[in-house]
Amino acid sequence: MVGIFSPSLIADWLVPGRNLFLTIHVLGISCFFYIVGKRLVPLFRAESDLRFDRPLTRLGNVLKFWLGQWKHPRYKFAGILHILIFTGFILLATRAFSVLIVGLSSNFVMSGFSGRAGHLYDIITDYAATVVFLCMIVAAVRRLVFKPARYAVPAQYGKGHTADAVFLLVLIAILMVADSLFAAGNAAARTLHGESVEALAVLSLPWMFKMVIGSMPLTSLWGMNVGAYLVHEITFYFLLCYRPFGIQFHVETSLFSVYFAKLERGTLKPVRWGVADEHLDQVKSFGVKKFEDFTWKHMLDFYSCADCGRCADNCPANAAGRPLAPRFLTIKARDYAFQHYPVLGRPKEGKPLIGTIYSEDEIWSCTTCGACEEECPLLVEYIDKIVDLRRGMVDDGNVPQSLQKPLRALEGRGNPYGKMEKKKADWAKEAEFQQACSVKILERNRSGENSAGKRPDTLYFVDSITSYDDRMQSIARSTSRILSHIGENFGILGAAEKDSGHEVRRFGEELLFQVLRDHNTEAIKESGVGRIVTADPHAYNALKHDYKDVPPVEHISQVIAREVKAGNIQFDAVENGDNVYTYHDPCYLGRHNQIYDDPRNVLDAIPGLKRVEMKRSRDRSFCCGGGGLMLFCEPKEEQRMGVLRVRMAAEAGANVIVTACPFCMVNIEDAIKVAGLEGKMSAIDLTELVDQCIASESRTEKREPAMVGG
Ligand code: SF4
Ligand code: SF4
Repeated sequence: MVGIFSPSLIADWLVPGRNLFLTIHVLGISCFFYIVGKRLVPLFRAESDLRFDRPLTRLGNVLKFWLGQWKHPRYKFAGILHILIFTGFILLATRAFSVLIVGLSSNFVMSGFSGRAGHLYDIITDYAATVVFLCMIVAAVRRLVFKPARYAVPAQYGKGHTADAVFLLVLIAILMVADSLFAAGNAAARTLHGESVEALAVLSLPWMFKMVIGSMPLTSLWGMNVGAYLVHEITFYFLLCYRPFGIQFHVETSLFSVYFAKLERGTLKPVRWGVADEHLDQVKSFGVKKFEDFTWKHMLDFYSCADCGRCADNCPANAAGRPLAPRFLTIKARDYAFQHYPVLGRPKEGKPLIGTIYSEDEIWSCTTCGACEEECPLLVEYIDKIVDLRRGMVDDGNVPQSLQKPLRALEGRGNPYGKMEKKKADWAKEAEFQQACSVKILERNRSGENSAGKRPDTLYFVDSITSYDDRMQSIARSTSRILSHIGENFGILGAAEKDSGHEVRRFGEELLFQVLRDHNTEAIKESGVGRIVTADPHAYNALKHDYKDVPPVEHISQVIAREVKAGNIQFDAVENGDNVYTYHDPCYLGRHNQIYDDPRNVLDAIPGLKRVEMKRSRDRSFCCGGGGLMLFCEPKEEQRMGVLRVRMAAEAGANVIVTACPFCMVNIEDAIKVAGLEGKMSAIDLTELVDQCIASESRTEKREPAMVGG
């Protein structure tokens, strides 16, 4: 209760207090809405984005990721600091509103905040203001003295943001001091005036200030009170209007960014929301070429980034010295928006983004691994934006030299190697393999039957790399032996199977992807199978998320884990008990599809197998470098991602890297050689290891007869 000490009662100034503060309020609020209105202009010119579905799920995201600050503790110190500041702001919101109104009305008390409840709220917010103030000091010291590497801005990305960040910390600290001084001065003045005043929170800022100023004369207290109030008002509105000019704009926009965040992992946005695939020929320009080609949600992301650097800190492309750090994709776009949509004046004509704010190499450097999105506390999206920028480049015929050949091969032969379709199933013809297992080819309209006369109901989708790469064919044979061992009635499409198109799509070649997808969908439907199994996480992700109208798909690690649990697969002890194994999570199995436990459960079921975890594992797994057609690309980089990954395995004390993806296998085996670890380190696919370890006794006890050769 402010009563007779309300600044609204100032009468001896040029303007009465109430009028002065009303003017500040009106100016501050108008200014804020004007600036925000200007910031929204590009969003109204942006491409559409359908994000208004599933309101309850979205609300749940807001509760978890925005209000609950779910991802912040992934960086412990910074996370806890942010949670304290955020909680302080939330608690202080009502108090700040009340303080603003006090300048207009001497007896204003927020409804529900009188009496005991009000006193309790005052105590809590006294502490909240104190904690926020202390956090500002800690954050400023951290920024200025300890300088965490992830805040640094390399020269190619412009100048550092430390000054701006510290300026904002100082402003917030001033706000907390002014608020506390006003509360202390008011309490001291009322005590001197003989009123009974509720106690301030012990050891809080207002309490300490009251201890210092408590003995001042009433007139000095009144002057100081009004001064503190004025500083509070001006700082509050300055902050409000300054925030939309920099990283602090996320205070206003992040709630909306989180609400409208993408809900499905592993998916890609369509070329144009609301345009069906069959009408894509009517779309004049594909992808993002100019700023306004981004969707409104993607622009909202640009405003919502808090510049915390976590995305870039976890980006393997950045770690390998490629010219990509996701944080700066956002910062550069935000700077572009601020420059081209100024607060004063009309929007300016823009130039194509590639070649001005983004370089071609920057956009081709991404492996679509998803580490940036996994880490971002505000759910800022990157893969869709990068793929959209690639679609724009592909549309302009702007494709890296090294990728032109595989793309032509994919168009002509349906695989990036340009190999003959009829050779697709050659891996199954190896004499030794055929003695143990024969694989049926599910020919179109003539789905085969096994020796028991039963039509195969499971398709093993092999995909290009496992079909044609001599080394990876071993994965296909191991997968087939495992499926046979568990009595799975399965077959393959053989020559009728084209590349799943997963990488093609992420490379930005949407139309080629659709040709491949439609061909495979037709072939799968004609095979009449009821389910699909694959050992390739890229094919798994494509069939699960990019294809429509195909039977349910499982990754082989899910099948093996289930069969092990059911007791249908027993293992002999691992061959070399001295080996130490570590599991590398493939991005499209782990982060994009959340399959972390099944492969680990399988490994842990093998007797005698010693397993260690790498520092970066599960949702923080470090990409091997193979996604997004990068296997065929030669990006500019200082070192290979695979080499970094192999060193992480060595640091963990492992000498065998187990993975569950042929792309990872290519990169990791290659990296072992490049890192000079040949003979000391090896890599093996989960299917190969399982195939090796299946108990020799049980191999002869197949529950289903072997299938006839195709
Ligand atoms: S998806 Fe992976 S490679 Fe691409 S920007 Fe994000 S973290 Fe970097
Ligand atoms: S995009 Fe997210 S993780 Fe990256 S700097 Fe911005 S807020 Fe941080």
